[in-house]
Amino acid sequence: MSENIQSVRGMNDCLPDAADAWQGFEAIVRDWLRRYGYREMRTPILEHTGLFKRAIGEVTDIVEKEMYTFVDELNGESLTLRPEGTASSVRAVIQHNLLYDGGKRLWYSGPMFRHERPQKGRYRQFHQVGVEALGFAGPDVDAELIVMCADLWRELGITPTLQINTLGDHGARQRHRHKLIAYYEAHRDVLDADAQRRLHSNPLRILDSKNPAMQALNAAAPRLLDELEDEALNHFDALQALLRANGIAFEINPRLVRGLDYYNRTVFEWVTDQLGAQGTVCAGGRYDGLVEQLGGKPAPAAGFAMGIERLLALVETRGKPIAPAVPDAYIVHAGDAADAFAWQAAATLRGAGLAVVMHCGGGSFKSQMKKADASRARYAVIIGDDEAAARQVSLKPLRGTAEQTRVELALAIEYLKKA
Ligand code: ATP
Ligand code: MG
Repeated sequence: MSENIQSVRGMNDCLPDAADAWQGFEAIVRDWLRRYGYREMRTPILEHTGLFKRAIGEVTDIVEKEMYTFVDELNGESLTLRPEGTASSVRAVIQHNLLYDGGKRLWYSGPMFRHERPQKGRYRQFHQVGVEALGFAGPDVDAELIVMCADLWRELGITPTLQINTLGDHGARQRHRHKLIAYYEAHRDVLDADAQRRLHSNPLRILDSKNPAMQALNAAAPRLLDELEDEALNHFDALQALLRANGIAFEINPRLVRGLDYYNRTVFEWVTDQLGAQGTVCAGGRYDGLVEQLGGKPAPAAGFAMGIERLLALVETRGKPIAPAVPDAYIVHAGDAADAFAWQAAATLRGAGLAVVMHCGGGSFKSQMKKADASRARYAVIIGDDEAAARQVSLKPLRGTAEQTRVELALAIEYLKKA
């Protein structure tokens, strides 16, 4: 006998109970984005490998060891399953000249793929909602991105905390880089293998290390904050003032550098201590150089991405699940005339916008009522030949203590629409 085929490691099925929570979350997110004037953009899941190498940086965790890259055997092209959404968004914005008439507020959502070690909160296919504000240079849009996150957390009933930092501009990063290299060279014996390798190619990334053995060394490393030029400092100050004015609490974390190369100036993360090691639920910042780096006319940009699996896990810890969608009615029917009328009743109720499950497969009223209960529907709509002859239905509430009533279809709609 052959073995059953299972899903790919680190890639999860989303079964109906979980999908209820996802749908509830997605509905909240869509409305939240609409209220902030962001518009959706959908890009392909596959891109040319070169896009991610150029956008994310060759010496990063993602590009060095996490990408699902393969050669399309039909034409020899190297393709990659997208590991994140910003590179594709910027590629599409340049390709279609979306910035020709000014800044754009965009969002995307969907699966991302990274070949990481699967564990709670870390998967090989995971899902992000991401927001990109392209063409805006000021700290006001950085503040908007953060304020809107805070708004969403309120709505979801969760309380991650905000860490911010600034990476400054090119000159400051160069000076900081030289100091970092000198510092790590002086402590070569403490560096792990990743850090040794990155010492000269990308020393900033060493600060992003998750290796506990590196934490003390990183904590005492030269700070980028000490190299910043006035313009970047003013930008950072203005952002902080806007956050305070909007009542957003934050902590400045000078070690926050983010795992992707394209960031400059503002970076931020929303973190929680309720999910174990995978505590970052949302991360983002400014990436003013990326549009030009990918071949577009220079344009400032900022954005963030949140991990849906981690956010939903955090929502679960608050104890109250996002309200699942339940059917309004389950139609129970037995008898020839009743069976025929049940189809009409279902069509009428659905036409009025109600969610209706019609019993299929026959059986006694008793056995059908068991199915009605199990369906989680709010009401059983019972149709026997008596009801069919009178073109009426009996409504039996499946929750609470209200009495069963027999009514015309039109009145049944009113009943079912009430809470
Ligand atoms: P981490 O430091 O946890 O690896 P990251 O810096 O690689 O995160 P980003 O590229 O900034 O993550 O992605 C934004 C968000 O997407 C993260 O904050 C997290 O919530 C989520 N995320 C990233 N990688 C994964 C993954 N493998 N599985 C689940 N969620 C993820
Ligand atoms: Mg990562």
